[in-house]
Amino acid sequence: MNTFFNKNFTIEEYHKGLREKKFSVFEAIKEFFIYTQKEDVKIGAFLEFYKDEELDRAQELDLQLDKIEKLSPLFGVPIAIKDNILINKHRTTSASKILKNYIASYDATVIKKLKEQNVVFLGKTNLDEFAMGSSTENSAFQLTRNPLDISRVPGGSSGGSAAAVAANMSLGALGSDTGGSIRQPAGFCGVVGLKPTYGAVSRYGLMSLASSLDQIGPLAKTVKDTATIFKAISGWDQMDSTSAQIDYSSVDNFENVNVKDLVIGVPKEYFVDGMSDEVKKAIDESIGNLRRDGFKIKEISLPHTKYALSCYYIILPAECSANLARYDGIKYSAPDELKGEDMKLLETYLKNRGSAIGEEPRRRILLGSFVLSSGYYDAYYSKAQKVRRLILNDFLKAFDKSQDGVDVIMAPVTPTTAFKIGEKSDDPLSMYLSDIFTIPTNLAGLPAVSLPTSGDFKEGKLPVNFQIIGKHFDEKTILALGNYYEKNYGQLS
Ligand code: GLN
Repeated sequence: MNTFFNKNFTIEEYHKGLREKKFSVFEAIKEFFIYTQKEDVKIGAFLEFYKDEELDRAQELDLQLDKIEKLSPLFGVPIAIKDNILINKHRTTSASKILKNYIASYDATVIKKLKEQNVVFLGKTNLDEFAMGSSTENSAFQLTRNPLDISRVPGGSSGGSAAAVAANMSLGALGSDTGGSIRQPAGFCGVVGLKPTYGAVSRYGLMSLASSLDQIGPLAKTVKDTATIFKAISGWDQMDSTSAQIDYSSVDNFENVNVKDLVIGVPKEYFVDGMSDEVKKAIDESIGNLRRDGFKIKEISLPHTKYALSCYYIILPAECSANLARYDGIKYSAPDELKGEDMKLLETYLKNRGSAIGEEPRRRILLGSFVLSSGYYDAYYSKAQKVRRLILNDFLKAFDKSQDGVDVIMAPVTPTTAFKIGEKSDDPLSMYLSDIFTIPTNLAGLPAVSLPTSGDFKEGKLPVNFQIIGKHFDEKTILALGNYYEKNYGQLS
């Protein structure tokens, strides 16, 4: 039954196969666990597998199968979940030693929604500790390798989720994107990833990194599969006060959008020095493809782009220094090393936070405490908030129809393709630079889909993704254009 494990086997195909009774949920899921557990020995995408319980659930789903008239599009579909999203009664670590023994006591809203759709959870995927990083090398537990070239990183921080999909170990996955952590690993691994509009998907049950930037979103092999997962997880949630009351039912018809009428903006600030020739060539080709197809392509300017990275590295540390204060090694379980030690309270805090929280989170906690401290707050934090507004205004102006604005923006996802393991781990600044094109979208709260410029990864060619950025809550249009591009130029090989 190895037809499951190739690039062309999608959620759509799985659904069809199930309806046509080509396989049962149990048969499929059993194959997935056999394949995935074997394959993952060389990739390291998963931190944990849920084999026994999910095989039981697969059997239960088969019993329901005949009774259900209309199967949900995700019925019985194997999905992998980034390990910063809570699944009730399961370990959730955010790839940090300080949470090594933490067992979640409730389901994140996205998990509840996927359970209602009868999704099967293969297990939890690796990430950079607390989602801080761009290569998944910051995980306290293991390295994840890029399935297309195992000497390279899969990107991050949702590197485990992207690698799981790219290696055909899972048909889809959830990640989280605070500054690019869905789109960048999707790009390094050549899969599709969607960062939804801020507020489109509930963050309840997502371990917070920077609450004003975080969004959960899907990764999958095709735009259509990505849209299917997005539809399942989006919508208002009373448990998240930042979730928006938006009716997403029209996303169902995203394939019917008349994309040819769209005006596409290409921001000149996204073609900077330091961008590799390989990426530039691939992006230019994609733009050329659409231009030849009759799309109206317009150069636009987003003048404050150059401040985005500095602005992000003030706002993110500020918010994360507050969010991570809760991890003291007492609440949310104690790390193994310190269990049973008899220490004074302050000593316990210092020891736990000093040894069980990794270098990168510590760096950001320090930076965040600094920019929020009295005397520096105005110079850094409140200045960064103002710059954030200017970055948003750039986008709003670019989309403003009364000023001859565009419908969507097309841009690269990363300045380079996947780098070698270890290449940037000692140089945080150069690591931060790999998010230069993804961060502005988070600061502005806009949706963006990252998809391959070409499906041809043969002969050692590494994937290059581009992103389509849309107006707030206009996922439908970016998915429609992404789908058009993929159907015409993203042929899988
Ligand atoms: N790589 C970025 C960072 O380290 C993005 C993180 C994210 O999106 N979770 O902050």
